[in-house]
Amino acid sequence: MGDAAGRRARRGTRPAIRLDPTALRTFGTKLRAWYRRHARDLPWRQTRDPYRILVSELMLQQTQVARVIDFYHRFLERFPSVERLAKARESQVVAQWEGLGYYARARNLHKLSRRVVREGFPTEADQLRTLPGIGPYTAGAVATFAFERRAPLVDTNVARVLTRVFAPHLHPKRARDQKAIWAIAEATLPRTGRASWTHNQALMELGALLCTARVRHCGACPVRSLCKSRDQKTGAR
Ligand code: SF4
Repeated sequence: MGDAAGRRARRGTRPAIRLDPTALRTFGTKLRAWYRRHARDLPWRQTRDPYRILVSELMLQQTQVARVIDFYHRFLERFPSVERLAKARESQVVAQWEGLGYYARARNLHKLSRRVVREGFPTEADQLRTLPGIGPYTAGAVATFAFERRAPLVDTNVARVLTRVFAPHLHPKRARDQKAIWAIAEATLPRTGRASWTHNQALMELGALLCTARVRHCGACPVRSLCKSRDQKTGAR
C-alpha cells in the first residue's frame, strides 16, 4: 500500500473522484431531455411556493408518491398558507397529518411555520437547514424547487443513480461515502438555477422510474452510454 493510500485507509476517507467534464455535461443534457418527455405530472411540480414544496417534501420523506397526493391536497385545503398553519394549534396540524405517520414531521412543520412567519422564508440551502427538522436533502430541495437555486440534493434515489453511473465503488447508504456522493451531485449541476430545477427533478425521477432499487431499466435509460453499472442484473444498491 502506498503512502497516500495508507493514510486514506487509516483515516477511513475516500480519494476524490475524477469526473470527466464532457461526461458530466452529456449526462446532464441527456437526463434533462428525458425528463422533459417523461416526467410525471405531480402537483408540487406546478408551483414555486416554498410552503407547498416543503409540505410535499416532508410528506414524501417516508411515504409513496401515490399516497402523498391525496394527503397533500387535503392538508393544503385545511392550511392553504404558512400563515394559516402558524395560527393553528399543534394538535390540529398533527390531526390533519393523521394517516401519514412519523408525526415529528408535522410538529416540526408547525414549529417552523411560526419562525417563517416571523422571519421570512430562507432562500438558500444553508439557511434552510437552520429550520427545525430540515436536513441537507430537504434544504436542497426547497432551495432548488422553490427558489431555483443552483443547489445539489441527494436522497436515496439520487444517491443510487449517481453511484451507479459514476462511482459503483461507493455505497449510496454508507455514511462515509455521503460526502463523495454530494460532491458528485454538485459536479453534475448545470450552470443556472433554472436548469438546476429540471436537473434535480430529473435525477429523482430517473431513480423513481427507471433506475430503482429493485429493477434497472437500462434499455430505456437516457444515460446508459455513460453508466458504469449498465446492464448489471444483480445488487440491491
Ligand atoms: S444504465 Fe441502468 S444502472 Fe445505469 S443509470 Fe441507467 S438504469 Fe441505472
